[in-house]
Amino acid sequence: MTKWAAVLIYTLAMASSQESDPKATEVWSPVPPVVRPGEGGAPPSDAIVLFDGTDLSEWREAKWKVEGGAVTVVAKTGSLISRREFGDVQLHIEWRTPAVVEGEGQGRGNSGIFLMERYEVQVLDSYENQTYVNGQAGAIYKQHAPRVNASRGPGEWQSYDIVFEAPRFRSDGSLESPATFTVFHNGVLIQNHVEVRGTTTNIGTPKYERHAPKAPLALQDHDNPVSYRNIWIREL
Ligand code: MG
Repeated sequence: MTKWAAVLIYTLAMASSQESDPKATEVWSPVPPVVRPGEGGAPPSDAIVLFDGTDLSEWREAKWKVEGGAVTVVAKTGSLISRREFGDVQLHIEWRTPAVVEGEGQGRGNSGIFLMERYEVQVLDSYENQTYVNGQAGAIYKQHAPRVNASRGPGEWQSYDIVFEAPRFRSDGSLESPATFTVFHNGVLIQNHVEVRGTTTNIGTPKYERHAPKAPLALQDHDNPVSYRNIWIREL
């Protein structure tokens, strides 16, 4: 047998073993790190706890009221802004709009969760409360309406589980890839990897402005006494 014939037979044999041997497609490393999942709503072992019901040490100039395991907006004191800065994250946060309904539309239990201080997932009492759909609970405000309305009633605790990918910018400041959101509201998928069009704005077309790869998380003071609890985040 010539050398070239031997090489050809070897190559064919390797190719056929790739097709027939299950081991050929097994991947053994790197091994994913072990994370202990939380029991009964507790955070997983690798989460950063931003609010456990007791204190606001993870937040800057925090003037909201901590009581009964929750923190509640005190109107006109400003947004709650995290000391730490984040890029791509998984965020769990629970929120509650006032049991006594006051106001209507955008004036009823309005707050918001701003990733990177810029990109808002709307918090609103959207239980039998009509407003523009890209401004109801779970909307990426003025950009994407939620797929469904999974709201619980006023005064009931609700949850968001948010997967956020930060936008990437090129060195000349232009956008390389937009931010994206996936959001579960009370366990129901309401945003599925939607692309953010730019910084949240109430008026006009959103646009991107280049910013650092990490920025704080902010909770909005929209004058309504919305409460939050059990806030934890995982950096991705
Ligand atoms: Mg809002």
